Amino acid sequence: MGSAFVEHLGRLASTQGERVALRDDAGELTYGALRERVTDVAAALTARGLAGKRVALLLPSSTEWVTAFLGCLASGATAVALTELYAERELESLVRASGASAIVAGEATTEVATKVAGGATVIAAEELRQPRAGGEPTATAAGGLLLFTSGTTGRPKGVPITEESALHLGRTLGAAWGFEPEDVLLHVLPLHHVHGIGVSLVVGLLAGATVRLLPRFDAERVWDELGSATALMGVPTQHKKLFDAFDAATPERRARWERSARLLRLVTSGSAALPAALGERWRALSGRYPLERYGMTEIGIVLSNPEHGERRPGTVGKPLPGVSVRIVGDGGEPVSDGEPGELWVRAPTVFAGYDGDAAATLASFRDGWFVTGDTAKCADDGYLTILGRTSVDILKSGGEKLSALEIEDTLREHPGVAEVAVVGVPDETWGDAVVAVLVARAGHAGALDEQSVRAWAKARLTAYKVPKRVVVVDELPRNALGKVMKNELVRRLREAS
Ligand code: AMP
Repeated sequence: MGSAFVEHLGRLASTQGERVALRDDAGELTYGALRERVTDVAAALTARGLAGKRVALLLPSSTEWVTAFLGCLASGATAVALTELYAERELESLVRASGASAIVAGEATTEVATKVAGGATVIAAEELRQPRAGGEPTATAAGGLLLFTSGTTGRPKGVPITEESALHLGRTLGAAWGFEPEDVLLHVLPLHHVHGIGVSLVVGLLAGATVRLLPRFDAERVWDELGSATALMGVPTQHKKLFDAFDAATPERRARWERSARLLRLVTSGSAALPAALGERWRALSGRYPLERYGMTEIGIVLSNPEHGERRPGTVGKPLPGVSVRIVGDGGEPVSDGEPGELWVRAPTVFAGYDGDAAATLASFRDGWFVTGDTAKCADDGYLTILGRTSVDILKSGGEKLSALEIEDTLREHPGVAEVAVVGVPDETWGDAVVAVLVARAGHAGALDEQSVRAWAKARLTAYKVPKRVVVVDELPRNALGKVMKNELVRRLREAS
C-alpha cells in the first residue's frame, strides 16, 4: 500500500525534478530532492517501528515539517499536527489524547517535546534525515493526518483526515483557484490546522508549484517576500496586520509593496469572516477583492468565491464541485432563499467522525448531512453568507435573532475602533444582551466611551442591534490562529460584572 500523495510527488520529480518545491529560511528542496528526502524519512520511521502508528509533529513551519509529514504518509503513519504555539498543558493533553507513539521535534522544540511526551518517544528531526540503508520502504497501512479543532467553542476534538480526503481537497482547490507549477505560494499559516496544511501546503505541492514557507507571520517580512510570490493565503487577522504595517511604513516601502501586490495572482481569506473594509483595502492596492472561502477542520473547504468571476464581499461564494448544502430552520426544514438557518453540508471531504468520540460524531450528523453549527443564508443566485457560529455569534435579544458578525462589521467602521468582538451576555430582560468589546486604535481610547459609541451605533444600526454595553479592553482573547475565543470573553465579562 503506497501513499498516493508521495507517488504523485514521484511523478513531479520525474517531470520537473529541478523545480523548487519548498523554500524556507534554511534553503530549498527541488521536487527531485523532496522525493528522496521523503523516502529517507519514511525508511527511518519504518525502522523505528512507527509504520501504522501515530507520530506527532512539533516542528516549526519549515521543509523539515513537510518532509516529516510526507514521510508519515509514505510509511503508513498518521501525522498528528501540533504546534509550539500551544501552552505546555494543552500540548500534554493533546499528545495523550492522540495516542502518539512518537513526537518528532526540532532543535527549538526538543525540550518542550520531552516535557509533554508522556510515554511517547521524542525523535530529533535530523535523525530522520539519515540516508536510508536498505531499499524503499513499503507502507503496510494507510497514512493520514490527525488535526484538532481550534477549540474556540469547546474543548479541542481530534479530527482524523484520510490521505484520500486531503488529496481530493487539494486537487479541487488547486483546480478551482487556478494553481500551476509556475505559482509561488507564500505560506504564512501555522502548520497545525486545515488552513495551513490542507488548503495551503497541499494545494501548492499537488500543483507542482513552489511553496515558500515563512517560520512565523511577520507582516513586514510578508510584504517584503510578496515581491517574489504569486499567491498568498491568510486569515483575517493576518490581513489586518498586513495593512497596519503598510500604513506605518515609509512611502518608499509602501510604493515597493504596492508594486508586489499588483503582481499577485491570488489572495485568499478564510477561517473567520473577512471584514469588508479589509477586503476593500486589498482591492484598492492590488486591483482585486480577495477570494473568500469557507470550511471547517471536519469538512475541508466547501464554499468558495471564484478565481474568475464575481467575488462578492461579505459572502463565501458557492458550493465547490461535489458539495451539496442545505440551510435549515429550527425544525430541520429547508428555509427560503435569503432566510437565515443552520448550514448542513454533504461533500466528499466530510470526515467520518471524531477520534474516539462516538457521541460527538453522532451529534454532528443528521440524515447523512454534517451539521456545521454555523448559521448562514443563501441569496437567490446561490451566493452564501456566513452569519456566525450558531452557539456564540447568533444572539437572541428581545425576541430578535441577530448576527454578531454583522454588528461587528458596522462597529469596525468607527474611527476609534481597532478590533471588535460582539457577544451575547445572558440578561433577564433581553435574553442575550448585546455587548461590544472593543480595542481602541492607538491614541483613540478617549473616543470610545459607552455613551458616544452607542449614539454612533444608533445612527447606523436597527435599535435592537445597538450594543447595550460597550467594554474597552487592551486585547481580545484569541486562539493560535488568531480567532477570538468568544466563550472565554463571555466568561470574563460575567466574572467582571
Ligand atoms: P476551523 O475548524 O478551525 O477551521 O473553524 C471552522 C469555523 O470557522 C467555521 O465553522 C466557521 O464558523 C468559521 N469560518 C471559516 N471560514 C469562514 C468564513 N470565510 N467566514 C466566516 N466564518 C468562517
